[in-house]
Amino acid sequence: MAKSTDKCSFCGRPKRDTRLLVAGLDGHICDECIQQAQIILAEEDATGKRKNIPDFLLLKPIEIKTYMDQFVIGQDEAKKVLAVAVYNHYKRLSHKKDAKEDDVEIEKSNIVIVGETGTGKTLLARTIARMLNVPFCIADATALTEAGYVGEDVESILSRLLQVADYNVAAAERGIIFIDEIDKIARKGDNPSITRDVSGEGVQQALLKMLEGSIVNVPPQGGRKHPEQKMIQINTQNILFITGGAFDGIEKKISNRLQTNKIGYKTDRNHEFVDKDNMLQYITPVDLKAYGLIPELVGRLPIVTFMHTLDKETLRRILTEPKNSLIKQYTKLFELDKIKLVFDEKALNFIVDKAIEFKLGARGLRSILEGIMNDAMFELPSKTNTKSFHVTVAFVEEKFRKTSMARLKVA
Ligand code: ADP
Repeated sequence: MAKSTDKCSFCGRPKRDTRLLVAGLDGHICDECIQQAQIILAEEDATGKRKNIPDFLLLKPIEIKTYMDQFVIGQDEAKKVLAVAVYNHYKRLSHKKDAKEDDVEIEKSNIVIVGETGTGKTLLARTIARMLNVPFCIADATALTEAGYVGEDVESILSRLLQVADYNVAAAERGIIFIDEIDKIARKGDNPSITRDVSGEGVQQALLKMLEGSIVNVPPQGGRKHPEQKMIQINTQNILFITGGAFDGIEKKISNRLQTNKIGYKTDRNHEFVDKDNMLQYITPVDLKAYGLIPELVGRLPIVTFMHTLDKETLRRILTEPKNSLIKQYTKLFELDKIKLVFDEKALNFIVDKAIEFKLGARGLRSILEGIMNDAMFELPSKTNTKSFHVTVAFVEEKFRKTSMARLKVA
């Protein structure tokens, strides 16, 4: 409680000259200084500088993988590589805060994940961001263009990250950006002087600056830069970039390289067994260069890993095992209507078989299930006396026959 002899510790005004004098532990603040402070806060807020950075939760690599296991089935190699890369990246951030001048500077390690579409690349990146509690956004490399051309500037990716981070610049500056379809901006052909693909290479150059860590002027609302718009500066030095792509046909480059090595050395070591059905496991940065990524970009993406094609067994597990698996989601939806939903093993196998037959991968599981379950989801909520619903193989076969997918096959 302020006494009549007290005064504001900020402006020195005595109590009698104020409307209100609030007492703190060691001092006082008057109503006018409170108002003044509020204005300063609002100004800082507008430029996004002031907000607290939420703490990120950094687990050890083994724990990171265990976390990923809850959401992503299989892909153990990619998970291990990512767990280590992410651990080192964020450890580097924590270390930076109390680093001394002569300390070794740990460089950041952006990542490339090579694998067919629908094998879980985005899911892995998203899962890691959720685990760490850092802002995350997805960008499509094919939508990007060099500055000055029609399309999205690379800065637009940072605008998106900033929006996800609720305009908290400091939080965005340690977020994760997933850039999909990085293979689509590869230079066509191996020899740059003959078949130079300028547009792809231009985007690669533009990305390069952002990936290596620089201060970028970002239009806060995204879209094109225009002179009146106030820019926000974002330092990309601590943003982790995870890129992904199918790199169609890269197996050939890998196989050529392995072949060349054999001829070149001809030692027993080089006659090791090569698993021709899964060439991606031998991928190295050299192959990315051969595919048409410029060497500078490859240099900024030092961690390279791969995804397995999803086989029948993995698809089957994806259906039921992840923490938020499709079957768990359907069961929950029905449970909310007080209906116990049970799937027969054979019914689940049928769904997986169809996803494989139509080459739909994991994404197809959802569309098939939607088609099969739609009638039941339409009718059952109105049948108040239905307490359980049993999905048999006969049921799924019949429903599937009526879906547009099945007709596609007939045509
Ligand atoms: P990509 O980025 O490789 O194209 P996504 O991560 O977008 O693939 O995967 C598409 C969907 O398929 C995901 O939302 C997820 O439901 C499912 N999926 C794919 N692979 C897996 C996996 N290994 N484990 C669990 N779900 C997966």
